[in-house]
Amino acid sequence: MANVFDKVKLHNGVEMPVFGLGVYKVEEGVQIEETIQSALDLGYRLIDTASFYNNEEGVGRAIRNSNIPREELFITTKVWNSEQGYDNTLRAFNRSMDRLGLEYLDLYLVHWPVKGVYLETWRALERLYHEGRVKAIGVSNFKIHHLQDLLNHCEEKPVINQVELHPLLSQEELRNYCRQNDIIVEAWSPLSRGRFLTDPILSSIAHRYGKTSAQIILRWHLQHEIIPIPKSVNPSRLKENTEVFDFQLSQQEMAEIDGLNKDQRFGADPDHIDF
Ligand code: NDP
Repeated sequence: MANVFDKVKLHNGVEMPVFGLGVYKVEEGVQIEETIQSALDLGYRLIDTASFYNNEEGVGRAIRNSNIPREELFITTKVWNSEQGYDNTLRAFNRSMDRLGLEYLDLYLVHWPVKGVYLETWRALERLYHEGRVKAIGVSNFKIHHLQDLLNHCEEKPVINQVELHPLLSQEELRNYCRQNDIIVEAWSPLSRGRFLTDPILSSIAHRYGKTSAQIILRWHLQHEIIPIPKSVNPSRLKENTEVFDFQLSQQEMAEIDGLNKDQRFGADPDHIDF
């Protein structure tokens, strides 16, 4: 893993960048266009949006306005909870693709495991995959029991599970389960929205490398083979977040950061979603 352009091979052979940009809460309009333009200039190639984020149109415009060939980009979007079910998902996919203005999608995710519905949603994703409209399909916010259920019923295994994951919620058991099943883990809120950047252990490791705590956290994800998708609308932080490929944490430092885990979620528990 030498730079921001590095990729990991998913179990279906598709290659995905090891690092990306999340755009939740990036406003539709000038903000999303400028943010993506800055990110692409810095080497970001993976963009993570969702129909829920209300900025797919801006993502599409920013991509078209860039001179980067489509095949170099990796675009993810997600089917929202109220859009799930077989027919609903097929329609939701078409709406997302119209908004994005893309001919194909790189990765489509089930946003949350909506009880009693996600298996039907998954069948729709399998159809879109078999039709070649999306290069890879995956899930988000699935716990081990959701994955077990899905693996017992699916034709195509998910390539990705995107979950809340940062040093306070290191998800070791889930990561091990995913590794055993060739599912790559992607981290949302990898910086836990900046909540513990002043932690003394992180600060002391950061000082050692002349890096920031945010960079240490992102490097920790990469060394655990987790794909982080930090969000920023600030050009200097966008750049800071890419500067994580020129140093390596020792095993002891990795263990120290692992030791910060408190199984602490800031987002919803996937077993208790009311949205
Ligand atoms: P992050 O952990 O990426 O944190 C983003 C926040 O941290 C922003 O407020 C940003 O502010 C700030 N920030 C970014 N970089 C730095 C830095 N280097 N130093 C200090 N502060 C920094 O949280 P998100 O929740 O946004 O997660 C990232 C992405 O994950 C989302 O954008 C989305 O794509 C995805 N996601 C998926 C979910 C799911 O259910 N599948 C749920 C939630 C998120 P600023 O913009 O001002 O720089």
